[in-house]
Amino acid sequence: MTTLLGKIDEIVPNLFRLEQDDETRIISQYILLVGKKILVIDAGLPSSAEFALIPTLKKLADHGSEISLLITHPDADHFGGTAMLKEAFPDLTVIAHIEDCPPLGSLVSTIERRYEPFKLSDEIELSSQAHVRINSRMGSDFEVSKKLSSDLVFAESPFGVNILHIPGHSAGHLGVWIPDSKIFISGDGVMGLGIRNRDGSFLYPPQFISPTIYRSSIEKLQKLKIELLLCSHEQPLRGNSVDSFLEESLESIDDLSYRTEMAIGNESSTLLKICANVHASYDSFPKNREADFALSIQGILMVMESQGTLTVDSLSFPRSFRRK
Ligand SMILES: [Zn+2]
Repeated sequence: MTTLLGKIDEIVPNLFRLEQDDETRIISQYILLVGKKILVIDAGLPSSAEFALIPTLKKLADHGSEISLLITHPDADHFGGTAMLKEAFPDLTVIAHIEDCPPLGSLVSTIERRYEPFKLSDEIELSSQAHVRINSRMGSDFEVSKKLSSDLVFAESPFGVNILHIPGHSAGHLGVWIPDSKIFISGDGVMGLGIRNRDGSFLYPPQFISPTIYRSSIEKLQKLKIELLLCSHEQPLRGNSVDSFLEESLESIDDLSYRTEMAIGNESSTLLKICANVHASYDSFPKNREADFALSIQGILMVMESQGTLTVDSLSFPRSFRRK
């Protein structure tokens, strides 16, 4: 089936997957019907809400349906349609993890904490062109009505739906686990070898706040024995493909950690310089995008500092890093 924008598939009974193009890649959102409850997973971009989610929800919702929106994490391609959804469904309950609130809800805070977290410490800033692009993707401010601080049972058996905290890509990243059918909706909680374009090439490297936190979330997913994994920027993954994707996600942490250690060099270095060296060591990621590595590399550097193998001078601007 098609929507006004992109397509919609009922991939198992009562679970709908909406997919749209986002420039060179895909983005997807999910609608899960659980009795009178409707759980929407991610709001997509403003255009996803306007042309895909809202018209679909208007068809699916009855009078008396309780609609909740779960925002997996604070990136524009996942929350940008929220304000528009709230306008269309004023009783909408907006759910997110407390560790992502803020930035979630405030666009100013999202720019500061999510898109330019290294501006004041490492002189890594967005171009004015990138600011314009991001502003057009975030919609308007909104309120998060339910801030989770632990896992949550959203619906009891026989429908059984659990909301799980899988930190890594963000501190409060959430995913949805349907135990009866062994389906996990992961947002960007697990990223394989990177986020891919439609043609299979890479758009972004895996981005995580800490390699140890990200690793333990992936290991938590491995224990679930997932049969159908639904990532935001991948086609649905089934059976053995789930296992390989989770394995690749773990390998990508080791690979990036190794390249980061190699890239530091013997002199003191800045975060941007280390990112540039790591970026140059791959030939798979887009040119001139070294800052895309900053979040994960800073996480790796913080682990090295805690292990005593790296000195960080946080008083210099930009910060400098030196191997011990
Ligand atoms: Zn995303």
